[in-house]
This record gives sequence, structure tokens and C-alpha cells, in this order.
Amino acid sequence: MTTPTDPFSTLALHGAEEARSAAAPVSPSPVTATSFFADPSAIGFSANDMASKAPPFYTRWGNPTVSLLEERLTLLEGGEGAVCYASGMGAVAGLFAARLKAGDHLVLSDVCYAGVAELVNDWLPRQGIEVSFTDTSDPAAVAAVLRPGQTRLIHIETPANPILKLTDIAAMATLAHDIGAELSVDSTIATPIATQPLKLGADFVVHSLTKYICGHGDALGGAVIVKEPAHLAALRAGVLVHMGAPLAPLSAWLILRGLETLPLRMEKHEANARILAEFLQNHSAVRSVLWPGLAGAPQADLAQRQMQNFSGLLSFSLHKDSAATAQRMFEEFRTISYAVSLGKTKSLMFHIGTEDILRSSFRLSAASEAAYRDAAGEGVFRFSVGLENPADLIADLEHVLGHG
Ligand SMILES: *Cc1c(COP(=O)(O)O)cnc(C)c1O
Repeated sequence: MTTPTDPFSTLALHGAEEARSAAAPVSPSPVTATSFFADPSAIGFSANDMASKAPPFYTRWGNPTVSLLEERLTLLEGGEGAVCYASGMGAVAGLFAARLKAGDHLVLSDVCYAGVAELVNDWLPRQGIEVSFTDTSDPAAVAAVLRPGQTRLIHIETPANPILKLTDIAAMATLAHDIGAELSVDSTIATPIATQPLKLGADFVVHSLTKYICGHGDALGGAVIVKEPAHLAALRAGVLVHMGAPLAPLSAWLILRGLETLPLRMEKHEANARILAEFLQNHSAVRSVLWPGLAGAPQADLAQRQMQNFSGLLSFSLHKDSAATAQRMFEEFRTISYAVSLGKTKSLMFHIGTEDILRSSFRLSAASEAAYRDAAGEGVFRFSVGLENPADLIADLEHVLGHG
């Protein structure tokens, strides 16, 4: 990351910034905290009249602070444009609403963020959209469910929450494009520092900005970054203009400020995750550790090929007593917070019980369910390894798991 070829550090701080004038602010530009703008040339009230370079008019359509974040994300992902949303779920919903209509077929990672699984199980079928959850880590399994002429989108998450399963982006892009479909990649856990999916053939990248990109756990946000600028208008019209879920300018500003240190944070997150993954792997109470950067990880070849950083999210399972251990973590951890979310500066741990997630969120085939149980055991402890001194994180774990 500190080599002269590092493409990220300067972009994260300066990307899409305007030329500086005297007394220009050096914070991420002032927050344009306004709901509307006075401009006689502003377009009318229809999302259908929206021009790509229209002046700011109403913040549900667009706002300069949000636009700066969109342009900076576009540069970091090597894309051709971006649309920000009120949250990561807003971004996923915005993408599905823009690209899928009744009668279309969507192929999705069988293991993914629970909110996305629920959106797809509960909402898409009501829109007349057909869905296949598939093990996207196996290209042959994906090829078997594709329906040429009907499958419009393959949506993958890599690494996938919560068991960090990887999917080969380039292989999925080929499968999708061969039948005239598109590929979208939820790259929340990887961040552009690890992987730039558009350069591997994806058509869309989705981020929950709430996680690593903001990094401080103080704002919700989401984004879709595109390879084809013609897709931007529909992404903006649907969930932003018509359904009303734009990113707030104040949140955009917080995310821009967090983004300034993304490259530096990802280096340290990865370094700390490696130390903690190795500690856990050698601990007798631990049944398995799932982290793409671990030597001998089941998908180590793909990880090496597709990830320039292994990120700071790992999962582990115990041989026994997972629920009781989770309760002790909540009560007795001193440094790590027992909490949901991920990608924050501070370490977060949360237990995801296998029976709970299989019942509440996933609808898996028998084979996918067996594979999930094999990976997760009674449940996974999802550990978003933060930037603390790793010795303090190990001390917390030794306190609840014992010393060996
Ligand atoms: C958190 C998360 C989301 C949803 O993002 P929100 O900002 O919480 O709406 C989507 N995908 C992944 C992989 C996530 O981790």
C-alpha cells in the first residue's frame, strides 16, 4: 500500500476535489445541508426529465456533498458513475428495482447478508421476480440454474457474510454475459482496497458505506457504482426519487471523512485480523476459523488471485457452549464490543446461531444447508477485528475462552 503504485491513498483524500482557491476549506468540502436549491434552469418535477449533469435542484435527486462522495467512490472502484442511497439495503433495493421486472429471474449467493436474503425471499416474489439461491462459489452450480433469456442478473457477495465464502468474480461475469445477463457484486467486506469488481468484469458494485468505507459507525449509507453510465438514470429514479431513500448530506460528509483513512485502516484491519485468526486457530476451544487470508484456507487460491487485502472480518466457531460463551462475551469483554455491524475502527463481535439464521433469514436447499452447517457448526462468532493493540483483543478472548 505504501509503494509508488498505490492507487488509493491520494484518491481517498483528494479524488474528485475541485481546483483549490484561496481560503478553500480543507475538510471534505462544506456540507451542503439543504433540501432544495434555487436555480431557474432546474428541471421539472419528473424523475424522467432528469439530465445527467443537471444543476442541483432538490436533495432527493442529488446534492453536491453526496455527488462528491459518488465521484470519489467512482474513482476508487474504477467505474463510470455512482448513486448513493440512505443505506446499504437501500442500494441493494435500488439496484434490484432498476434492473429487474416481473417475469425476470435473479440468481443470488445462497449465503449472503441476512437483510438481502430476506429482501429477496419476502419482497421480490411479490414483484413477480423469480429467484434462485445458489452456491455461487461453484460456477458449475450457477451454470445449472441460469435461464437464458430470463435470467437478468447474478448478484453475489464476496466475501459473503457471515462465513466469508468467496465467489470468483471473473468466472461469474463470463457466465452472466454469455447469456446476456449482468453481474452485481456486494463488495462491502472487501472494499475497493481489496478488490475492484468492475475491473474483473462486473457490471455493478454495491457497498454498504455504513461499514468499512465510513469506518466509524456514525452514519448509514449505501452506493451502487456502475460500468455503464446509461444505467445511472434508472438507479436514481427508482429508490431515490420515487421511493425516497436518498443519502443525507450530513451522512455523506461523515462518510467522506471516514473514507480519507480507508487505505490506512484496511492495512491495519488486515494485519490485526491475521494475528487474531492465527491465535484462534491454535486455541483448543475453537472448532474452525474462517478468514480468506489464512494459510490453507479452503479458497486460498481464489483469495490470492482476487483480493489485494483480506479485510478485517473473520468468523470462528467453537466445539461447544456457543450461546453461553456469547452471553459471557457481552458481560465480560473489556475491549471488544459485543454488537452487530462490522467494519468499524473498534472491534465488534456477534454470535450468529446456525438454527436462528437458517430459520429466520435463509431459505436453503438441502445441499446448501448441509454446507452451511459444516462451515458454521452451532453458530459463528462474527468478529470485525478493529484497530486496537491486538494483545488487548487476545486478552479479551483468553478471558472468555481460557488460555489454550
Ligand atoms: C451491512 C451490509 C448490508 C446492508 O447495509 P446497511 O447499510 O446496514 O443497510 C449489505 N450487504 C452487506 C454485505 C453488509 O454487510
